[in-house]
Amino acid sequence: MIIITDGLVIKETSTKENDKVITILTRDRGIIRAFANNAKKLGDPKNNATGLLAYSKFEIYKGKNAYSVNSAEVKELFMPLRSDLAKMALAQYICELSGELSPREENSEEQLRLLLNTLHFIAKGDRNDRTLKAVFELRSMALAGYMPNLVCCDNCKCYEHERMHFLPDTGIFVCGDCLKLYKQKAVFVGINVAYAMRHTIYSEMNMLFALNLDPDTLNIFERTCELYALRHIDRQLKTLDFYKIIRK
Ligand SMILES: [Zn+2]
Repeated sequence: MIIITDGLVIKETSTKENDKVITILTRDRGIIRAFANNAKKLGDPKNNATGLLAYSKFEIYKGKNAYSVNSAEVKELFMPLRSDLAKMALAQYICELSGELSPREENSEEQLRLLLNTLHFIAKGDRNDRTLKAVFELRSMALAGYMPNLVCCDNCKCYEHERMHFLPDTGIFVCGDCLKLYKQKAVFVGINVAYAMRHTIYSEMNMLFALNLDPDTLNIFERTCELYALRHIDRQLKTLDFYKIIRK
């Protein structure tokens, strides 16, 4: 069976001299792992289009046990990312996270759009990369089925509270007055981070990256979103460790 779909290469692994296996977040089929034979050959039409962070139109053959790339045509390569080590490290982390959180054999239009938009803003360089990272983490979790309930305090239903807390195990807000009723781990977020988290979960995609946070708010927002994103991943993400080393 032949599948024609757009997708972003989120991982590439060499196999033989000219061959590799690539992992693609596709629009129509979610995560696909496919052989790309000869793709490492300079001059092969698939070369650029199957590289890491290439957004391409793919023609993929689905065999009995494996997928293989018949042809690929570049749509976007995010060139400005490639000359900046910190941006590249962040891009690789969000790709790895996307690989963990995106579905297989299912339409992944929203996941792909989120990933492409985040890469676009990282490449463009006019938004804070730490904000982009946090927004990507929290929004990805919501898309992956871990939609937090950030409307109000889980107990008293108050909407605004100076001492709002986030409970990462269940994805809820609990205010400072009600916190004693809950036994789970709680992270103090305060009112500004609560607004930023709500924005990330409930805004339309075209407004998603408009957040502009002061340094204190960003510190807490960043820590909280990362904690929540890693909550359901039971292994260490090497790309995240690398990003943190590079960023220092
Ligand atoms: Zn409360």
